[in-house]
Amino acid sequence: KVVTERSKANKVNAKERPFPLEWTRNIGIAAHIDAGKTTTTERILFYSGAVHKIGEVHEGDTVTDWMAQEKERGITITAAAISCAWDASCGPWSGIKQRINIIDTPGHVDFTAEVERSMRVLDGAVAVFCAVAGVQPQSETVWRQANKYGVPRLAFINKMDRVGADFFTAVAEMREKLGANAHPLCIPIGAEENFSGLIDLVQNVAYIFGTEEDALGLKPITTEIPEDYQAQAAEYREKLIEALCDFDDTLAEKYLEGEEISVEEIMFAVRKATISLEFTGVMPGSAFKNKGVQRLLDAVVNYLPSPIDLPPIKGQDSDGETVTAEVDDAGKLAGLVFKLWTDPFVGKLVFYRVYTGQLKKGTAVYNPRTRRSERVSRLVLMRAMDRDEIDVAYSGDICAVVGVKDIITGDTLCDADFDIRLEPPSFPEPVIAMS
Ligand code: GDP
Repeated sequence: KVVTERSKANKVNAKERPFPLEWTRNIGIAAHIDAGKTTTTERILFYSGAVHKIGEVHEGDTVTDWMAQEKERGITITAAAISCAWDASCGPWSGIKQRINIIDTPGHVDFTAEVERSMRVLDGAVAVFCAVAGVQPQSETVWRQANKYGVPRLAFINKMDRVGADFFTAVAEMREKLGANAHPLCIPIGAEENFSGLIDLVQNVAYIFGTEEDALGLKPITTEIPEDYQAQAAEYREKLIEALCDFDDTLAEKYLEGEEISVEEIMFAVRKATISLEFTGVMPGSAFKNKGVQRLLDAVVNYLPSPIDLPPIKGQDSDGETVTAEVDDAGKLAGLVFKLWTDPFVGKLVFYRVYTGQLKKGTAVYNPRTRRSERVSRLVLMRAMDRDEIDVAYSGDICAVVGVKDIITGDTLCDADFDIRLEPPSFPEPVIAMS
């Protein structure tokens, strides 16, 4: 399994948890308005829901049945955080369903404080760009916020089916306008109405869209790279490996010696480079046409960090001194309230990210702002189409808390004897108006 230096320092009790923390990705989807954030999120939920129901596929529960549930998904899509599961078609976690928590990041840059809070609870993000419009002004603002909060990113160049779609120009714009060290992880086969597949440069294989496996979100069939694309694929693969050498000495040595480099080694290097924040892998796709979204999910699992891969969260004690909290299931509880939301079925929900310790249903949590403790009556995991009641939220989890009343976004909820406030410090930054 891929483990980073950091993940070894964290104390996660695998015996107590339903599954290891390294199987979790807390991600946001950020985009310029109209780039396709909603559509991409919907497709992600659709495919991860499809996988959820894999057993029923053969019993006639087909795509159209899930489409009928689109309406309820439409409600949950606006929720603050939705959990889904994805079994990547390749990589170290293939064969194991990973939990992906999708956290809503406000699209309007004028709510700077809210953007800050949601940035803070993310471990990674997918930045969606339009393949025709490229990097738009609002994307630049969100990109800078993500830099500020140290959120590792993947880029999804969406709308590859549209007239004027140009993947490589969009990648070049990411470099010029965002200063991103952007490199394709996949390149498109065709564009506009002929956008018909992807070449995965890491695995050195092609995925062709439109197969039944693809439509149902099942394990796709990979094929050889089409002859017309072999030279281009080899060129971009070489560029990718060269770029990754800056982040991985072992890879650099092998590359210089001309030794064979395995797919696993490249994958590991992409992950390491992405987590370093100095590298952004780019994927082409068309969310609307259901093309490339499953491969994006594979990339989320394989390249974005889990909560144990990241530095400890920083907060302040009552004297204003900096305190840090490492992930530790057995440690004191500390977490951040990042959104309040009313669910039509459950009622008032307090969306909460546990950083360290455990939050148990029925126990009291302390709010340093109000200096009061309140009882957690229920804990809920929001899914695309239903809601799971849970008894415990562990370090790194995102959950919805029911029962806590005197609360605002940005509050810390912790153990009464843990002197920590996680509210991000406000910073003077001019608010850039939306174009
Ligand atoms: P958001 O504002 O970023 O959430 O964007 P939406 O997901 O609402 O998409 C904006 C518009 O672009 C909608 O009309 C979508 O149907 C359309 N759209 C989204 N993705 C694609 C795509 O891949 N191809 C095409 N042709 N249209 C898309």
